[in-house]
Amino acid sequence: MRDQLYINGEWVSPDLGGYLDVIDPATEQVFHKVAAGTEEDVDHAVRAARRAFDNGWGKTSGAERAQWLEALADELESGQQALSELEVRDNGKPLPEAQWDIGDAIGCFRYYAGLARELDQQQDQPLALPDERFRCRIRHEPIGVAGQIIPWNYPLLMAAWKVAPALAAGTTVVLKPSELTPLTALELAAAADRIGLPAGVLNVVTGLGADAGSPLTEHPGVDKLAFTGSVPTGAKIMSAAARDIKNISLELGGKSAFIVFDDADVEAAVEWILFGIFWNQGQVCSATSRLLVQDGIAPRLIERLVEETRKISIGPGMEPGVLLGPLVSQGQYDKVLGFVDQGLASGAKLLTGGRRPAHLKEGYFVEPAIFDEPGHNSILWREEVFGPVLCVKRFKTEEQAVQMANASRFGLAAAVMSADLQRTARVANQIRAGIVWVNCSQPTFVEAPWGGMKHSGIGRELGEWGLHNYLEVKQVTEYVSDKAWGWYLK
Ligand code: NAD
Repeated sequence: MRDQLYINGEWVSPDLGGYLDVIDPATEQVFHKVAAGTEEDVDHAVRAARRAFDNGWGKTSGAERAQWLEALADELESGQQALSELEVRDNGKPLPEAQWDIGDAIGCFRYYAGLARELDQQQDQPLALPDERFRCRIRHEPIGVAGQIIPWNYPLLMAAWKVAPALAAGTTVVLKPSELTPLTALELAAAADRIGLPAGVLNVVTGLGADAGSPLTEHPGVDKLAFTGSVPTGAKIMSAAARDIKNISLELGGKSAFIVFDDADVEAAVEWILFGIFWNQGQVCSATSRLLVQDGIAPRLIERLVEETRKISIGPGMEPGVLLGPLVSQGQYDKVLGFVDQGLASGAKLLTGGRRPAHLKEGYFVEPAIFDEPGHNSILWREEVFGPVLCVKRFKTEEQAVQMANASRFGLAAAVMSADLQRTARVANQIRAGIVWVNCSQPTFVEAPWGGMKHSGIGRELGEWGLHNYLEVKQVTEYVSDKAWGWYLK
């Protein structure tokens, strides 16, 4: 396990800051320490990234960068099991989910290797103009130095979603992982180091948001800020970016609705609803945490949801058969139990869960909870819990379901389930969210755009949209006529 900062192709100790504890959420014990980077370290990292950009990386071909990305993917793949186990220890999630994440992260590097190659073909494409005296070509050029700040819920996967497209575009990177889960980002740096990625192309600065994240957002040498995290931090980052007119993309929170109509298959609904809210302990930005159920199916569906939720096995992520691990931290544990208390105080009916499981004396474990009919204006219905808490409300008509789903300041995702595919298409088209799942919830593909409307963010990651986050578009327009332009030379 690494504990230093990775700057300019070297492992270095923090300039002024000390070291931060890394805690295993299943035991609440400190098992490692990592460098607490500060403004000085961020400055070294940004300067290194700028030199790497100016001195070569920004001028490489897409085909060259594709080879580096594939080498990185191979290197991660060779340590896939160890990385998965490290993710479990750092984050708490069950091992099969960590394996899934690491596999997806590797796939993300391979996918963007493909897009880097395609970029060479797309370079200098002619653009037809309505005036024959001119010829125009379009270039896609790397944006420069990207500052990337990520959360703790999918530590390596969130790093991959940002680092892979940036490197594919020819941009260099300073990555600031979450202080709660810094370890696999450092392993990504170690993989880059082993394959000999040129110094400064990828820098990883661990540390607290205020001490390492904030200086990154304010550094004048950063051209692009890419952030995934909470809405309040996103707003701060947007203000910092505004001072310097930095390019920005934000992936923020959500409170996504799952609409189930009377004609849906009850058992299929149970499966997708539970997965949609309880995988990764509900610490999922796109979690479908607001369940809207049509009156006719509600009694049977809610009964089955409660029955199955009570069977979910909770325990340390390394234990075979466990579906729900601990929450990531004491702070997150207190926050989720606080939401449960507020829900009870507001008069919502707790149908199951919402407590520490009796058999687990240590670790940040919370039983998956279902609340029935929280008030429209209750905090539980409106705000993101980011934990294993499902809220259920009933509706009568399609129009009412759409209205209730859209009555949120968030707009990241939504799901709709019905046997009537014309209806699901109608509803999907009316939902104000960046992602709509039909007859399922949560499946995520690296090819498809990811991101939200309203307070859920600005811009899209993944797919070609993710690549274009790190590219500038340039037109080169040439006057090809042998006649004078004729403004004053008549
Ligand atoms: P957070 O905002 O507390 O922290 C995210 C990152 O920002 C961390 O690395 C943190 O150190 C850093 N940070 C904190 N303060 C900062 C500051 N002032 N300046 C710069 N950086 C700062 O969020 P979190 O608790 O780590 O993550 C949970 C949130 O992330 C949830 O709201 C969730 O919905 C969201 N999220 C969104 C997506 C998405 O794709 N839309 C994906 C995952 C998580």
